Amino acid sequence: MKWPKTFVMFSAAIVITVGLCVLCSAAQQAARPGLKVFISVDMEGISGIVHSDQTTSGTAEYAAGRKWMAQDVNAAFEGALEAGATEVVVNDSHGSMRNIDPDDLHPRAILISGSPKPLSMMQGIDASFQACIFIGYHAKAGTEDAILDHTISGSVVRAVRVNGADLPELGLNAAIAGYYGVPVVLVSGDAAVCRQAGEILGKDVVTIAVKEAYGRLAAKLVPMGEARRLIKAGVKDALGKLGRAKPFKIASPYKFELEYHVSAQADMGEMLPQVKRVGARTIAFTADDYLEGFRTLRALIAIAPAR
Ligand SMILES: [Zn+2]
Repeated sequence: MKWPKTFVMFSAAIVITVGLCVLCSAAQQAARPGLKVFISVDMEGISGIVHSDQTTSGTAEYAAGRKWMAQDVNAAFEGALEAGATEVVVNDSHGSMRNIDPDDLHPRAILISGSPKPLSMMQGIDASFQACIFIGYHAKAGTEDAILDHTISGSVVRAVRVNGADLPELGLNAAIAGYYGVPVVLVSGDAAVCRQAGEILGKDVVTIAVKEAYGRLAAKLVPMGEARRLIKAGVKDALGKLGRAKPFKIASPYKFELEYHVSAQADMGEMLPQVKRVGARTIAFTADDYLEGFRTLRALIAIAPAR
C-alpha cells in the first residue's frame, strides 16, 4: 500500500508536473478512437468507507459516503480522459444502485442507475468496450482484515464457487467482462481486495489500495486527496498499457456451487429443477453459458429467505 511522499518530494513533484502538464496536455487529451471504458462502482471499497452506516440509505453518514463514491469515480473518469477515452459508462453497483447523485458525477460520464438489472453490477457492458475498471470493490465473504467483506449478499451467501474456484464479486464480474472479451485493467478498494484481484486476474491488473483494514470495521485510510490522485494516475497507467491485461475467462461448462449461511436457504434453492443439493447448506447447478449461470445464481440469491 502506497502512502504520501514527503512534503519536499511532493512540492518538487508539483513543480515538475505543472511543467509537464503545460508541455504535454495536448497529447494527453488526444482522444483514442473507439476507446470505450466501462466502470463498475461498488461502495464498500470507496475511499473513507469503513462501516455500513456510510453505505446504507437513510442513515446520517450516507450523504458523505455517496459523495466520496462519486469523487472516486470522477478521479477514475479523469484518468480515463487523460488516457484518451472517448466514452466512459459508469454503472452504480451497490445496494439500490441509486447511490451516485448524477449531479455529483463528471458532466461527460454516462451513468447507469437503479436496480434490479439483469447483469447487476455489470449491466451495460458489451463487446464494444476496450477496458473494464472496478472502483470501490471489496473482498469476498470470510476474508480477514477486509472492510465489509461479503459476496453479493451478506445475509445469504457464505461462498460462491465456479468450477471449484471460490470467487469474490470481482472474479464473478470479471468473468462477465471476459465473456465479452473485455479485460479488467484496474481494481480499487482496500488492501485485501487488491490482493484477491492480483491472485485472480494476474500481475497485469493495476490495483489501488485506498485503505488497509484492521478487522472488518476499521481501517487506516490513505488521505482522501492522495487516494483520488492514485486512482486517477492508476487508471491512466492501466489504459496506457492496454493489451497486457487479458480478459478473464473460465472454461465451459460452468459448475456453480452456492454455499448459503443456513440450510433453510438451501431448502428454497433446491426447489429449482436444475439445482442439486450437495450439502446441508450448499446447492449446485451447471450451465453451458456463463451469463445464464450468473443469472441463475442471482435468482437463487434473490429468493433465499433471510437467515
Ligand atoms: Zn456494495
